[in-house]
Amino acid sequence: MKYDYDLFVIGAGSGGVRAARMSANLGAKVAIAEERYLGGTCVNVGCIPKKLFVYGSHFSEDFEESAAYGWQIGDTDFEWSTLLENKDREISRLNGIYKNLLESPGAAIYETHAELVDAHSIRVGDHQVTSDKILVATGSWPSIPAFPGNEHVQTSNDAFFFETLPERVIVVGGGYIAVEFAGIYQGLGVDTTLLYRGPLFLRGFDDSVREFVRDQLIEKGVDVRFDAVVDEVVVTNEGKVAHLTDGTDVVADEILYATGRRPLSSSCGLESVGVRVDRSSAIRVDSNYQTNVPNIYAIGDVIDRMQLTPVAIAEGMCIAYNLFGGESRQVTYEDIPTSVFCQPNIGTVGPTETVAQRTYDDLHVYESSFRPLKLTMSDNQERTYMKLLVDGDTDRVVAAHMVGPEAGEIIQGLAVAIKAGATKADFDATIGIHPTAAEEFVTMRERSR
Ligand code: NDP
Repeated sequence: MKYDYDLFVIGAGSGGVRAARMSANLGAKVAIAEERYLGGTCVNVGCIPKKLFVYGSHFSEDFEESAAYGWQIGDTDFEWSTLLENKDREISRLNGIYKNLLESPGAAIYETHAELVDAHSIRVGDHQVTSDKILVATGSWPSIPAFPGNEHVQTSNDAFFFETLPERVIVVGGGYIAVEFAGIYQGLGVDTTLLYRGPLFLRGFDDSVREFVRDQLIEKGVDVRFDAVVDEVVVTNEGKVAHLTDGTDVVADEILYATGRRPLSSSCGLESVGVRVDRSSAIRVDSNYQTNVPNIYAIGDVIDRMQLTPVAIAEGMCIAYNLFGGESRQVTYEDIPTSVFCQPNIGTVGPTETVAQRTYDDLHVYESSFRPLKLTMSDNQERTYMKLLVDGDTDRVVAAHMVGPEAGEIIQGLAVAIKAGATKADFDATIGIHPTAAEEFVTMRERSR
């Protein structure tokens, strides 16, 4: 054989691992390099530990709720170190599973830094290997804007390892990570302030969802401040102080910046082989994930199409089957369902109402808002919100948006129906499961607009 490997993957995150193991299963000789942790962001400092934290933080409400159901559980106490230890143990278990997933089909694993030397050569640690095809799946990294004192702020990478749970936290940003962590801290009893630079956070989500989540976070006690721009951070005896451009100060023990993640394309030698990256440092690829260097491909966060684990996995599957299975698959980026694990959760599939208004001449909007049955026994004021968007011309349901407990679980099922082209008549003909929140999606009869 001319090369050591058929495929060399740089980065063992969600996309890289999937591409490596599927390619190996299809008979390719594969190697994968990872310099940090097997499983990448999702497993180690992203989706999985985040969701465990969300579960952990929600117990405070569950304990309060339980009293209305007759439970007397006395004083409760929260131990951050226990949550961290158990989380770390679970993550180690998952790291091991990822290792097995790669080793079983025979992929070689290099747990070290890898860098391109030329279009077919890679330096791994202190030796060099060659590969016919190379896949860059190096992911992304939290990005902190430049401002005086930004060395005092932390990112989600750090938040999974804080030695002690801060008593006061400022979360800066208004995307997925900011609202998820604001909910986590609030649930764990931390004095939580969320600072967002614009008039309303969660840009890109449906406006009704954004407003609803804002109201729910405020109701739960998060100090939500919009049009709040940090000028400078200084450390004083009081703690870390964020000076805002409107002249106000906010003091906390930790300041968490959740202001986006940049593609991690700068440390694997792309420039030495002339792989093109764009201004946001995302690797440029065509619809087959091929870069301008024909044998080098890239997938996942580093190409910055959608920074979502299941999208990277779909891209990884696609590339494996196309390179080694003789197929010509394409990932479709329409109607990708997604969930934000703020509390209550957001689940969404399809366009926002504003986008749908521009697309469809006759858009029918159905909405529902109610207190979940489980919460009616106590004075918990949390509400659930649902919206269906229907193209009046074809009767097709084009989007479903939800804020409420387990919204992700509910929307995942609806996403199949929407992907399959279900009409409003199909939804109406579906018998509900009673009593659930989800049944509301098949019993919406009156149009809001
Ligand atoms: P997002 O892109 O979701 O949000 C970034 C936020 O930071 C936006 O509100 C943005 O404001 C704000 N922002 C950007 N630059 C600045 C700045 N210089 N100063 C102040 N605010 C700024 O990024 P996240 O970091 O929250 O998450 C990264 C990605 O990871 C997400 O986009 C998502 O794809 C993925 N993710 C997915 C999760 C899930 O599936 N549940 C969970 C967590 C992350 P503006 O809107 O005004 O630009």
